[in-house]
Amino acid sequence: MFRIITVLLSLVSAFISTSFAQDQFAGIEIKTIKVSEGIYMLEGSGGNIGIATGEDGIFMIDDQYSPLTPKILAAISKISDKPIKFLINTHWHFDHTGGNENLGNMDVVILAHDNVYKRLSAGQLMKDFDKQVPASPKVALPVVSFNDQVTFHLNDLHIQARHFAHAHTDGDSILFFKNKNVIHTGDIFFNGFYPYIDSGSGGSIYGMIDATATLLKLVDDTTKIIPGHGPLANKQDLQTFHDMLVQVVDNVTPLTRQGLSLEEATKRDPLKKLNKKWGNGFLKPDMFLSIIYQTIADHK
Ligand SMILES: [Zn+2]
Repeated sequence: MFRIITVLLSLVSAFISTSFAQDQFAGIEIKTIKVSEGIYMLEGSGGNIGIATGEDGIFMIDDQYSPLTPKILAAISKISDKPIKFLINTHWHFDHTGGNENLGNMDVVILAHDNVYKRLSAGQLMKDFDKQVPASPKVALPVVSFNDQVTFHLNDLHIQARHFAHAHTDGDSILFFKNKNVIHTGDIFFNGFYPYIDSGSGGSIYGMIDATATLLKLVDDTTKIIPGHGPLANKQDLQTFHDMLVQVVDNVTPLTRQGLSLEEATKRDPLKKLNKKWGNGFLKPDMFLSIIYQTIADHK
């Protein structure tokens, strides 16, 4: 089983290292989904982008991969002729920040949580994928960082970025469009499949559960939820995702308490009942188990 996981890891790692190549993105189209008046979700490759338009200029959430920037800009130009004023990164991962350098060169003001600034400036090792990510050039870094929350007032919107500690990473922000009942969760929410949780960057499945539980108290049945990955969602989708995470911890904890190794635990197939619904995304079931197992084993 370890060998299978190692092969899986190297496959995923090969995918990620080639994913920077330009031709990887040749066939990608950017799809624009209207979420609310003036608010859009853009799908392409990588994390979902949020866009808020209006007379004061464009507010942008995340920017996928660098080679996609021209297509993303073309998609944005179809919904607004105003310049992009602000870009906020929901966390540091390269499928959400890859366009930063291009946008920084366009004089867009980039913002993020303090830990996003720290991780982008220093370069990172993503241990789950054995992937070294180099430090970003200065122009790609946030010029403003915050430690808890910040609110933007433009286009008659009040957009609050609020930090949630130790969830998907240690630098996650969720964006609340306060007077529109829309939120962008970043990678605290993968709609419909097992999430990647980056424990090497301070993430934890327990933080994911806490963050989604908090969010569930803040949304209602009409809230439009832009997830980090997957289709536009509603409260029920978020509830289902939260409940899945709780179930994962409930199923895996007894195995860690017995002191089973990952290999032994994998043989017990603790996520069997969940895999059909959640195991067909980026992370296949054994890979997901391998990513969360140590965090659960270490949890007292
Ligand atoms: Zn991520």
